[in-house]
Amino acid sequence: MVKQTIQIFARVKPPVRKHQQGIYSIDEDEKLIPSLEIILPRDLADGFVNNKRESYKFKFQRIFDQDANQETVFENIAKPVAGSVLAGYNGTIFAYGQTGSGKTFTITGGAERYSDRGIIPRTLSYIFEQLQKDSSKIYTTHISYLEIYNECGYDLLDPRHEASSLEDLPKVTILEDPDQNIHLKNLTLHQATTEEEALNLLFLGDTNRMIAETPMNQASTRSHCIFTIHLSSKEPGSATVRHAKLHLVDLAGSERVAKTGVGGHLLTEAKYINLSLHYLEQVIIALSEKHRSHIPYRNSMMTSVLRDSLGGNCMTTMIATLSLEKRNLDESISTCRFAQRVALIKNEAVLNEEINPRLVIKRLQKEIQELKDELAMVTGEQRTEALTEAELLQLEKLITSFLEDQDSDSRLEVGADMRKVHHCFHHLKKLLNDKKILENNTVSSESKDQDCQEPLKEEEYRKLRDILKQRDNEINILVNMLKKEKKKAQEALHLAGMDRREFRQSQSPPFRLGNPEEGQRMRLSSAPSQAQDFSILGKRSSLLHKKIGMREEMSLGCQEAFEIFKRDHADSVTIDDNKQILKQRFSEAKALGESINEARSKIGHLKEEITQRHIQQVALGISENMAVPLMPDQQEEKLRSQLEEEKRRYKTMFTRLKALKVEIEHLQLLMDKAKVKLQKEFEVWWAEEATNLQVNSPAVNSLDHTKPFLQTSDSQHERSQLLSNKSDVNARKILPSPCPSPHSQKQSSTSTPLEDSIPKRPVSSIPLTGDSQTDSDIIAFIKARQSILQKQYLQLLCSLFPKSAVSSAQASTNRKGLSDVLVTR
Ligand code: ADP
Ligand code: MG
Repeated sequence: MVKQTIQIFARVKPPVRKHQQGIYSIDEDEKLIPSLEIILPRDLADGFVNNKRESYKFKFQRIFDQDANQETVFENIAKPVAGSVLAGYNGTIFAYGQTGSGKTFTITGGAERYSDRGIIPRTLSYIFEQLQKDSSKIYTTHISYLEIYNECGYDLLDPRHEASSLEDLPKVTILEDPDQNIHLKNLTLHQATTEEEALNLLFLGDTNRMIAETPMNQASTRSHCIFTIHLSSKEPGSATVRHAKLHLVDLAGSERVAKTGVGGHLLTEAKYINLSLHYLEQVIIALSEKHRSHIPYRNSMMTSVLRDSLGGNCMTTMIATLSLEKRNLDESISTCRFAQRVALIKNEAVLNEEINPRLVIKRLQKEIQELKDELAMVTGEQRTEALTEAELLQLEKLITSFLEDQDSDSRLEVGADMRKVHHCFHHLKKLLNDKKILENNTVSSESKDQDCQEPLKEEEYRKLRDILKQRDNEINILVNMLKKEKKKAQEALHLAGMDRREFRQSQSPPFRLGNPEEGQRMRLSSAPSQAQDFSILGKRSSLLHKKIGMREEMSLGCQEAFEIFKRDHADSVTIDDNKQILKQRFSEAKALGESINEARSKIGHLKEEITQRHIQQVALGISENMAVPLMPDQQEEKLRSQLEEEKRRYKTMFTRLKALKVEIEHLQLLMDKAKVKLQKEFEVWWAEEATNLQVNSPAVNSLDHTKPFLQTSDSQHERSQLLSNKSDVNARKILPSPCPSPHSQKQSSTSTPLEDSIPKRPVSSIPLTGDSQTDSDIIAFIKARQSILQKQYLQLLCSLFPKSAVSSAQASTNRKGLSDVLVTR
């Protein structure tokens, strides 16, 4: 974008008569902006201007004095504008001045000498010269020539005839599109491919222009003339086209009507001329004023046509033509004043580029063809727009076999043909949609028939899978933690070496020894899930696994008790013995298996050797023409006896292995059986322990009872049922020990089943056991604690119930738990 003010130049016409000295002076100091000073003679100053000023100074880009030739004017004024037009910007040069001041001479030129050629012919010459030089672009030049007379436009380039009057020429009217672009209807654009063609058009227009000669001045006209060069350029192969216009405007005389001294028709002319120039001035004033929203372009045809050049997208240049004679000084001053105002207008010239869609399509079509050719060259086959029926069928077969192929590595190979790839996708989509529809139908019919539940949706399934994965991770972590804790607990148990009988006497469930804090931590860490137990016990034999499924549901405390029970059980010796025997048998079987394999391969070798020997014998017989001996030789005999020996050995070993297998299986069953027996006995023992505790510990809160083994939700349910059913004494009997302190009671009411099942004692109340702490100390502590609790319980009963009831309850608490008493009440 080029942002600049309208350039103004002044050109002084040589006087007709001898030059009058002292009327004007030109100051062309190189450092300063050139200025023209008009000096009024004294006699004129009085009558002409009110303020009696004697001189007027006007600044111009450049001032061309009388002797400035046409070449200089062109070089300095028109050439730069023509250059920007060639670059793609719009340009306008207009001449403004009174009639006879040299506008036509400057714009078009004198009719007599070649050197008097004006801006138009010189510009045409320059432009065509430049176009010829530049072969990088394709240029097209069009010419239009418009005359505006009495607010009417006429096309001066009407080739049909030479007009005898302006009215004979086609009338040009203004059309405005929604974007406020001006279109001149009936103004023809003539293509000029050479300078000569363009000049012919200029002469044709000038000839037509002459017809409205007026009596006042034969050489000047009362009309405005706009000669326009339309230039389009584009680079070869590009779809972008640049358009630029150069308006060369010869305005009508700017003199005031009063001066003309004409009447009637001529006055009307003058009025119009002045009116349109008056509107031009208004537009220029409006444009030079800041913040003016409305510019009155529409007031005259001239301003409408030049709208683009004044305050728009154009590089505009004004030439003020001056006839500085004494009688014309006032008009000259007025011309200069007008020029000063024009100089204030800023224009923004932008490149007029547009993309020609036809050219784009053409280019793309060409590109497609080229690509197709290239593809045909690479693939060696000419492709049509669509695939043939046979090709489609073939593809669908491929898809079917691909879908049916169970091999996960199978691929659908269609080659590098996008048409085929696309068709495959379409076909797969269709198959998928068909399947979906079918499934939907099936589901809806099923739901109608059976009123069954909706199948799990994909999303739900995914969610569940995620949860499962998460749980798995959790379980793994917990199992690891639990393993560690269990190991610690076992070590602690081992250290304590508590006697089981003493343990029984104490009527307290087995509990953890060692650091109580550690014990608590263990309970906490082991509390969240029972799933760890599954994992720990997961390696049991299948029989055992099936028979004592509940073993896996054992709580950690229970397991500990079981371990102790197992260790002290008489059968455990048998089990261990069996284990040892089994181990032996296993290693024996293994060794036997290896020997059998050895014997087998030896047998194979011997057989091979015998055959070889036999073949050798036959071959020898044939070569020496001897009969094959019927009896085997000594060597073969030896081999055969070896073979027999090996076979026997093999048989013996095989029989032994068979017997071993039976023995092993039997031993395994025995062991499993022993384990089950042990398990059962442990259960009975555990139940006994629990019952004993109940009977011997009156300070029992039966609400806190927990079943020893079953810790599943089912067991919890069962437990709640047991608690609510007071008549089920047997069920209550197997409940394990209560928590001995209120603190523990509170804690256990919210604790998990696993936590409940771990034999407890109040952590805070157990004396901190050092290494020297004996087991009997602990047992004594527990007993003391129990008796305190028993007393507390009785006190509580006294406060709640009448004496008689308490006395009977007192008796019953020795046998039953607190809950039983409460329920009885
Ligand atoms: P306008 O178009 O402003 O009415 P013209 O261009 O017709 O004036 O000029 C009037 C006369 O003056 C013409 O005969 C023209 O040849 C002559 N003339 C104008 N300017 C010059 C000039 N710079 N040098 C020589 N003759 C000129
Ligand atoms: Mg003229």
